[in-house]
Amino acid sequence: MKKFSLSLQWKFFLCIVLIVVPTLSVIFTWTGIRNERQAVEQVVNRARVLARQIILTRQWVTDCGGVMVAGESKGAKDVVSFLDDKLVTSRGWYQRFTPSMVTKKLSQYSLRQDLYRFRLASLNPLNPDNQANDFEKEALNKFRAKGLTELYRFDNHGENRHFHYVAPLYLEKGCIKCHNSKGEVPNIIRGGLSVILPIDEMTSAVKKNHMKLAVSGTVLIFLSLLTLFVLTRRFVVKPLKDMERMTSEIGKGNLDARVNIRTRDEFQNLGEAFNTMAQNLAEARESLETKVSQATCELSEANRELKTLDKLKSDFLANMSHELRSPLTVLRGGVDYLSRTLKIEDNRNYLKIIDKNLNRLIHLVSDLFDFTKIEAKKIEWSFESENLAVLIEEVIEIISPLSLDKKITINYEKPVDILVQIDVERIEQVLVNLIENAIKFSDPETEILVRIKDDPQSATVSVKDHGIGIPEGNLQTIFDKFSTVPSGRDGNPEGTGLGLAICKAIIEAHNGRIWAESVKGVSSTFYFTLPKQRRQHNL
Ligand code: ADP
Repeated sequence: MKKFSLSLQWKFFLCIVLIVVPTLSVIFTWTGIRNERQAVEQVVNRARVLARQIILTRQWVTDCGGVMVAGESKGAKDVVSFLDDKLVTSRGWYQRFTPSMVTKKLSQYSLRQDLYRFRLASLNPLNPDNQANDFEKEALNKFRAKGLTELYRFDNHGENRHFHYVAPLYLEKGCIKCHNSKGEVPNIIRGGLSVILPIDEMTSAVKKNHMKLAVSGTVLIFLSLLTLFVLTRRFVVKPLKDMERMTSEIGKGNLDARVNIRTRDEFQNLGEAFNTMAQNLAEARESLETKVSQATCELSEANRELKTLDKLKSDFLANMSHELRSPLTVLRGGVDYLSRTLKIEDNRNYLKIIDKNLNRLIHLVSDLFDFTKIEAKKIEWSFESENLAVLIEEVIEIISPLSLDKKITINYEKPVDILVQIDVERIEQVLVNLIENAIKFSDPETEILVRIKDDPQSATVSVKDHGIGIPEGNLQTIFDKFSTVPSGRDGNPEGTGLGLAICKAIIEAHNGRIWAESVKGVSSTFYFTLPKQRRQHNL
């Protein structure tokens, strides 16, 4: 599953969003609630002032024992006049207005001007119009029972909202005259004054306020986010990206890469430290390159000299081994002739010693000759299709006489025909070398086992002997040129150590592989694999 990853820029942005948005939202919500509370407080205060004003007016009228109002005046119209409260003067007749009548008139005036309404409310009114409604009843009961001095609530009448305020009205001494019929005493709560204020204006003002807050809040949040985003990008993300670019350039080997951070803070210091590091690295590389190129020059000079010397050596060895072969062939012929014709038995022993050493010399010269040719890549390979099973059989037949002295048996598990593309002469040489070594390092009266493993693509030949074996540490190196193991029974190395190196070169030229396994003191097995089809040969 692909791991979710977020760039630093977006992480910063998310952090900002998570901090700024909730903080500003809380601030704006809180401001909105406070504004609404303030608006409510204002309405309550207005109602209080109004109620206080009306109560004061009523008190004044009570203290005056009522007010005389011109009966024909506009303000006195529609009022039920009582005959005993009428006063006829030379300027016309006057009607006495009680506090209750003044209250009612003032209420009608304010209603006409669409300002507010107020009225008297009582549980047992003299005037049935003043009968308290449910809310007013609740208020009057609470005033009496709990000693409350006001009660208010917001009413919804369809689309219109009102603020309903009720304050208690106490029975004053001046009121007793009219109200004593029911045995009422001063200072009891006689009723209440209901003030009803329309609050649509306030509600729409609060709504507008909310809207303004929401818009300005959103704009502020957006601007804060934008500013913080731009600032983080400019002062954090960009310097980091610059440094990332530079380090990746340095990683690619471009030590001339530099950063240019001008933030006047830790990033600028870091950028300068990066530049110094890159500068030091570039200088170190330059000096290293100078040293390396000097050393390379010296090495290639030495290499050239070595190659010249190596060529001289190879040429010398090739010439020498070639030159040595002719006299050795003559010597071989002479010794053969003498061994056939010499009659004196004592001298025949000398002749045997000469013959043995001559063989070793011929072997040595022949290996040297082959090896120098392989090293100089001067061998001419001739690949042809050959039956490996038969070839091995023929080689064993030729070599078998060598095993007679040590009474060694060579067993060959001959398979059915196995056709391989090989240079017959060279593979024969490998087989001879491996079997000769096996005979040489086997204990007397033991068995040498030769096998072929036939695979679809290749054939693997193994030669196993039972003898001194090879130490573990020498199993790889014995295939190196001039490598010998102190393998003789007397602990001295035998031979020149060229045979296996030649075998390895021949097998590898066939794109094959050669290796050995051994248990020291028990047995050694040499393997080589040959591909059946000839591919691009490693010549
Ligand atoms: P040379 O050409 O002198 O015979 P080789 O290259 O054939 O030498 O062998 C190298 C060394 O590997 C030998 O000196 C011997 O110590 C060791 N060696 C090779 N074949 C065997 C074997 N079958 N058993 C034990 N030792 C072996």
